[in-house]
Amino acid sequence: MSQHQERDLLARVPDRLFIAGRWRPAESGGTLEVRDPATGEVIKEIADATPADGMAALDAAEAASAGWGGTPARERGELLRRAYDLLIERQEEFALLMTIEMGKPLAEARGEVTYGAEFLRWFGEEAVRVQGRYGPNPEGTGRIIVSQHPVGICHLITPWNFPLAMATRKIAPALAAGCTVIVKPAALTPLTTLHLVQLLEEVGLPAGVVNVVTTSSSGQVSEPIIRDPRLAKLSFTGSTPVGQHLLEQAAQGVLRTSMELGGNAPFVVFDDADLDQAVDGAMLAKFRNIGQACTAANRFIVHRDVAEEFSRRVTERVRRLKVGRGTEEGVTIGPLIDDRAVDKASSLVQDAVMRGAEVTTGGEAVHGDGSFFAPTVVTGVREGSDILREEIFGPVLAIVPFEDEDDAVRIANDTEYGLVSYVYTESLSRGQRMIDRLHTGMMGLNVGVVSNAAAPFGGWKMSGLGREGGAEGIHEYLQTKYTLTPNP
Ligand code: NAP
Repeated sequence: MSQHQERDLLARVPDRLFIAGRWRPAESGGTLEVRDPATGEVIKEIADATPADGMAALDAAEAASAGWGGTPARERGELLRRAYDLLIERQEEFALLMTIEMGKPLAEARGEVTYGAEFLRWFGEEAVRVQGRYGPNPEGTGRIIVSQHPVGICHLITPWNFPLAMATRKIAPALAAGCTVIVKPAALTPLTTLHLVQLLEEVGLPAGVVNVVTTSSSGQVSEPIIRDPRLAKLSFTGSTPVGQHLLEQAAQGVLRTSMELGGNAPFVVFDDADLDQAVDGAMLAKFRNIGQACTAANRFIVHRDVAEEFSRRVTERVRRLKVGRGTEEGVTIGPLIDDRAVDKASSLVQDAVMRGAEVTTGGEAVHGDGSFFAPTVVTGVREGSDILREEIFGPVLAIVPFEDEDDAVRIANDTEYGLVSYVYTESLSRGQRMIDRLHTGMMGLNVGVVSNAAAPFGGWKMSGLGREGGAEGIHEYLQTKYTLTPNP
């Protein structure tokens, strides 16, 4: 990829806020810098919204609300479908943009475009399948009518780790349901959202249906929006502490909320597992997105009879990973999002080693420009180590041995999170038992990636509330009305 192509692409990405169908600067004239995490260089300056801009976006979403809610579902669906087609046509440039602003290797960024675009297609199809119910009441005195209605204006807050997919996973169902939105992308990776919204404008989205505010002061911009009685729904993806804080704000207006929060996924390998499959799955579940995924396997819980062999094989594979800027040929591990993430990975590894674990490869920061951490395997991790309790969010694979099935279940469930689990076993009955016994909203049984636009994504316990994707996803943006009417 040439520097010229990168410059040309960055120049075409809007640098302003998108409010009421117009690209405009922040009211204060302020800007914020976006950096390439592989080099630390500033790649673009964009508008830095103030609370007044947030309110203008809310006004615009309100003005467009009745019109969009009343637009036939087929029209809304076809618009999403056109957006899907165009996004796929522009896969390369969206992939490149994500690699530049977030750091993931280009091949993975292409995968995210396919995954992210699929939400536009899926919810374009779901838009016309929203149904109600009509029938007699049991007493035979009247008719029950159940109908579905858009919830109204939604505030969508997204994280930096999947800049495209986290945006489409919220925007598509909201639009399909007939809601208007104010999107606030992460300050670290706002460019992909701006580029996406420009595409939505191009396919004919009416003014005010989607509004975007980019800001370096998220709390100050979002709080007045959340506390405004016109807002009907808050959908957030990010860390659990920020999610808890936003839930408190949302409680005041009894807002509908969807919360996709942190994870601490167990990856359980039984002694009857197909080890080749388990190692392939481990590489995906751990190193996809440089380990910076809420679904990333955080704890490899491996039966003691196969722990050594599993560790030997993954170590061999991890040594072959290539670290570098995501645009370079053959790179499989890009930079972490910033230096804080590198420090966190370092300290988690150090704590594990201090408590008796052994590093078989990697284990430290890679010095030079950018925020790189060497892909790492740590074996023999002792219970009580920080690395088993905290979300690593980096390329560190931590192995803890177990004795028997009860022991594996106990260790796997020993976390306040409950997003996803992975289980490798060749036994059908054991696999089925694990579906019942592991406390997570999603499970990969002999697979290392579960995300799919057609499936309900979401967590139990402190991993969140609500579901994104699947037939369930659109209902997060719909509200139910029951009407009773006498017999005709
Ligand atoms: P984060 O710090 O919680 O930030 C997420 C988003 O919230 C960003 O847009 C951020 O804006 C914004 N934000 C922060 N404080 C806010 C406030 N007081 N009011 C309004 N908005 C606020 O999380 P992150 O570091 O970006 O993302 C990593 C976390 O996301 C991990 O815990 C990961 O597990 C989780 N995640 C979960 C899922 C899921 O589906 N369950 C998917 C992906 C990621 P700024 O950028 O301006 O701070």
